[in-house]
Amino acid sequence: MTVPSGFADPASLDYAPEAMRAMGEAVVHRAVAHLAALRDQPASGLPTDPAFLRALSTPVPPEAGEPLEPLLDLLFDECLPRAYNAPHPGYLAYIPGGGVYPAALADFLSSAVNRYTGVWWAAPALVQLEADVLDWLRDWMGFPAGTAGLFTTGGSGATFNAILCARERLLDPDIRPGVLYTSTQAHHCIAKAAKLAGIAADRVRLVPVDADFRMDVAALAAAIAADRAAGLRPFFVASSAGTTNTGAVDPLDAVADLCAREGLWHHVDGAYGACFHLVPALRPLLAGLPRADSLTLDPHKGLFLPYGTGALLVRDGDALRAVHTTTAGYLPENQDTFYDPAQHGPELSRGFPGLRLWLAVRLFGAARYRAALAEKRALAVDAAARVAALPGVVMDAPPQLSLFAFHLDAPALPTAAARNAATRALVDRVTARGRVMLSGCTVDGRYLARVCVLSFRTRAGDVEAAVEDIAAEAEALQGVAAP
Ligand SMILES: *Cc1c(COP(=O)(O)O)cnc(C)c1O
Repeated sequence: MTVPSGFADPASLDYAPEAMRAMGEAVVHRAVAHLAALRDQPASGLPTDPAFLRALSTPVPPEAGEPLEPLLDLLFDECLPRAYNAPHPGYLAYIPGGGVYPAALADFLSSAVNRYTGVWWAAPALVQLEADVLDWLRDWMGFPAGTAGLFTTGGSGATFNAILCARERLLDPDIRPGVLYTSTQAHHCIAKAAKLAGIAADRVRLVPVDADFRMDVAALAAAIAADRAAGLRPFFVASSAGTTNTGAVDPLDAVADLCAREGLWHHVDGAYGACFHLVPALRPLLAGLPRADSLTLDPHKGLFLPYGTGALLVRDGDALRAVHTTTAGYLPENQDTFYDPAQHGPELSRGFPGLRLWLAVRLFGAARYRAALAEKRALAVDAAARVAALPGVVMDAPPQLSLFAFHLDAPALPTAAARNAATRALVDRVTARGRVMLSGCTVDGRYLARVCVLSFRTRAGDVEAAVEDIAAEAEALQGVAAP
């Protein structure tokens, strides 16, 4: 297909309508062909040779415009294959992302029409769509009326904003005495967000975990007491609704009780796991989550959106607005009848993140989302049972949600170093087979293999392939393992 590069007039940056249509069709054609062939590509993507990057690099922008097709060739044929194949159905590494098609359409639409949704008065009806989606999230998470929310670029940004809310609510202008608690298994974005929020590293406590990698609430209570005795000011606990390492869900109810008694802000990091709260049958796995003062969500993981959408819910919406409401002489007066994005987050001008989830939920329906999430959990439980039954496999963390972690142990692997090396080799060799991609994690010096089922494309056959490949490579490694 050749694309006419006809501009509306020689000096304009606007293309003529027929050129826009043809370019759009070319892009959709490529994207759909790519998605239709995902299964034929390795789940891990191809390695990237530094020489390729040097040859690829265009240090100076072209003076004259180029045609679209060769640029699409470069993207699809050269760059895309050399990346983790995160949208692949066999992608079971890290926390899988999504990329449902309605969200791609929403991105195209919001960029093409480019309305300003940073402030309510510039596009009240569009902002209302986003406000509705935030209310859907609120209701799915069991948060009360009065909750305020914000779409962010990811879980990290949501967590940063939550710490700001608590800091403003609970600390004096001199924030140095404030202490923040999370577990040794928490995502590193919490310590990073603390730093961004001015909470120095010597005011961040990493509370130990129990044998199931859940925060030890007695140790948390002891740490809070010790800091109070030292004249410090405990103010924030971040617990995890599904850790990235092993999928552990902290005892959210017990942490909520402790925070209520101690007057601390309880934040729940649900970037991986909170999505399962959509499924009523799975809510007991996340008991206590709706009691949080704030919650990080990552729709670009558990709601299957493309990267770039996180979300924050804050139970006391006024706390969020207190951080962000401001005004200026060149803006109309703030209104507080309707949801106003700029009064809930640090950004003014921004994209229109709510449209992704709005269009996806409107097209799919909530029931389809719930069914998909329930299926991912069931697939993980099934896979974990089968992997645990393999000779030489030790299940360290059965799936609390849809993630499990395990390692290899056998008489031929008598030392921790040998077990770590064999487990690492297992992850690499299963991934090298191309059907699925796994990743591992290091916990207390132990290397664990992980399987996380969260891609909307992962179905029973992909999990079957994962179990087969893990079985075959586990057997091979125990046969050849060095003492
Ligand atoms: C992914 C993840 C984060 C960080 O979210 P980003 O969207 O990558 O910024 C935080 N916590 C957990 C548990 C995660 O899985």
